[in-house]
Amino acid sequence: MAGPCSVESSDQMRLAAEAARTAGASVLRGGAFKPRTSPYSFQGLQEAGLKILQQAGREQNLLTISEVMQHDLVPLVASYVDILQIGARNMQNFPLLVEVGKSGHPMMLKRGPSATLDEFLLAAEYLMHHSNAKVLLCERGVQPLDRSYTRNTLDLNAAPVLKEISHLPVIVDPSHGVGVSRYVPAMAMASVAAGADGIMLEVHPNPREAMSDGAQSLTPAQLQVLMPQLRAVAAAIGRSL
Ligand code: PEP
Ligand code: MN
Repeated sequence: MAGPCSVESSDQMRLAAEAARTAGASVLRGGAFKPRTSPYSFQGLQEAGLKILQQAGREQNLLTISEVMQHDLVPLVASYVDILQIGARNMQNFPLLVEVGKSGHPMMLKRGPSATLDEFLLAAEYLMHHSNAKVLLCERGVQPLDRSYTRNTLDLNAAPVLKEISHLPVIVDPSHGVGVSRYVPAMAMASVAAGADGIMLEVHPNPREAMSDGAQSLTPAQLQVLMPQLRAVAAAIGRSL
C-alpha cells in the first residue's frame, strides 16, 4: 500500500498513483479526513478528497484505502474506497468500530500507540462481531521512550506474535512507525523480514511540500528503489510481495 498521508489535489494523487502502480503496489492510500493533533493543521479535503482518491485509483487500477474517523461517516467513506482505515487514535472508538464492522467493508485497524496486543485484538473483535471478517491488523509504531530521533517506536515484535495468536493478516506501517523518511527503507525491510503480510508506505510526489507527514514520506524514486529490495527480503524467507 502506498500513497500520500493526505489527498491534496488531483495532480498530486495522479503522480502518487502512477508511482504506486509503477513500483508494483496494489493499494493506493490517501487521507481525506485527517486526525490532526492541532485544529489549526490541514484537516483534509474530506469528500472532495475521497473523489480524487477514487479517480486516481481507478486510473491506475489500484484498490484504495482511506481513514474514517466518525461512525456517522462510515457509509460516505465506504461509498468511495475499497478498504476503510481506522486510525491509531480511534482504535478503541467502539461506536466507530461497530459501524465499520456492520458496513461489511474490508477494513484495516491500526494499533493504538499505547495499546497492548490483547487490546488490539479485542478491538478487532468489535469489528468482526458483526460477521465481518475482512480485517487487516496494522502495526504503526508505539509510544516511544525517546522522541529525539524518531517519531514512534515500530514494534516489530508485534508481527510474529500477531501471526501466531491471530489468523488476521498483519500490515506494518514503517512510515508512521519511524517518522523519518531516510529510516523508512530499513524499517520496511525489517517489517517484511519479521513476517508482515503487507507494508503501508507514505509516498508523496514532493514530500517537502506535503500538507502532512512530509518528513516521513518517500519520493516516487525512493519507492522504486525500495520495492525490489522488499521483494528480495520476502523471497529470502519464502514469501512474495
Ligand atoms: C495515517 O495513516 O496517515 C495516520 C494518521 O496514521 P495513524 O492513525 O497510524 O497515526
Ligand atoms: Mn500520515
